[in-house]
Amino acid sequence: MNLRDLPSVDALAGDLSVDVDLPRAVIVSVARDAIDDARRAVQTGSPADPTLVAARRLRALSSSRLRAVVNATGVLLHTNLGRAPIDDTSTPFFSNLEFDLSSGQRGKRSHYLHELIAATVGAEAALVVNNNAGALLLALAALAGRDGRVVVSRGELIEIGGSFRLPDLMAASGAHLVEVGTTNRTRESDFADTPGTVEAVLKVHPSNYRIKGFTEEVPFSKMPDIARQLGAPFIADVGSGLLDESTPWIDGGPPEWLADEPAVRQVLEQGSDVVLFSGDKLLGGPQAGIAVGKTSSVERMARHPIARAVRINAATIASLTATFEAYASGRAAEIPFWQMATTPVEEIRRRTDEVLRASGANGSIVDGESLPGAGSVPGLTIPTPVLRIDGDDEKTWRLLADHEPPVVAARRDGATIVNLRSVTPDEDSIVAAALASI
Ligand SMILES: *Cc1c(COP(=O)(O)O)cnc(C)c1O
Repeated sequence: MNLRDLPSVDALAGDLSVDVDLPRAVIVSVARDAIDDARRAVQTGSPADPTLVAARRLRALSSSRLRAVVNATGVLLHTNLGRAPIDDTSTPFFSNLEFDLSSGQRGKRSHYLHELIAATVGAEAALVVNNNAGALLLALAALAGRDGRVVVSRGELIEIGGSFRLPDLMAASGAHLVEVGTTNRTRESDFADTPGTVEAVLKVHPSNYRIKGFTEEVPFSKMPDIARQLGAPFIADVGSGLLDESTPWIDGGPPEWLADEPAVRQVLEQGSDVVLFSGDKLLGGPQAGIAVGKTSSVERMARHPIARAVRINAATIASLTATFEAYASGRAAEIPFWQMATTPVEEIRRRTDEVLRASGANGSIVDGESLPGAGSVPGLTIPTPVLRIDGDDEKTWRLLADHEPPVVAARRDGATIVNLRSVTPDEDSIVAAALASI
């Protein structure tokens, strides 16, 4: 191929728009890049066909456009599939977002939501921001301040998926990390012996891993006293947002797989100044970061400029209000995450059997497991009967993902695994239709 053979941007974009339903500006941009690349490659020798290159790039781009998928992986809080499933809450068109309808004056954003959260967990005050990483950044900046020294155990300098690294976040907040203890063992005396002044004490729940063997850590319950002796507020990042360790919304109390997950209400009752958690993990709500605790600390956070930079929008307020009202009025069992997590094994076996029969697919129902996910309760699983399809798992997985709407299955030991615990009963027929295409 030489320069004269290259198509014009317009001609290539015209060809490409036959197969792709994307805005013309996007197609033109991809066409231009592919032709530019080919022009450069002509000079060095071996250009790829810009038409093929552009078509491939457009397909990849088109499949990354946000859309609904059926999650048949059995990972309930699947970080790549949007974490907690939430019912479509209609985003208000106009709303009283910052308007006080009773006085006709300017009102406070999230005022009701903050009161609702505080009342639900038994806190003096609450604040919601964009996500938990933002909540921690804000807590450190507001409570420790620039060069403020924050004490953390060396066993909790964690990384969570999606480039959340505690030391980096701490540096970004302007606070100064003071490590105490060792990777596997940290004692109360390690905190007490911290030299110099301390502006905050932080404990981070190591959500996505466990250190086993010769280990020692200071539990959340002991931390508020330690912080008080150091004359500093205690910040507890519990991560997953389990609201109450006694799970009053689950008949028969907490299931085995929740094991030692720290809970917001209890960590708060033990005397923490601020407890931080995500909205879209075990809470089962939309993406958000929630801070609850003492009025003085929460107000310092609310007044800090970062609070404005990480505030939430009307859609999140509406959705999180629904989530917390469910907890506050004894309806948390209806939250999609908890429904999925607590569906009885026999019920899932019956649905799987029906899907298998309706699809006519060639598979078998075997004992499997589901994962709470999002780095919560690592290593713990929920027993679940699953549909196992042997044969070319690459091909089967692809066919399911190419279905309209896409069905995302799991792959294990060369087989495709379809797990209905993370599928709503309404979606069973979609899974059956996708399976029928195999
Ligand atoms: C998940 C998690 C975070 C990050 O929360 P995002 O809402 O994803 O920003 C922070 N700390 C802990 C302990 C976590 O488990």
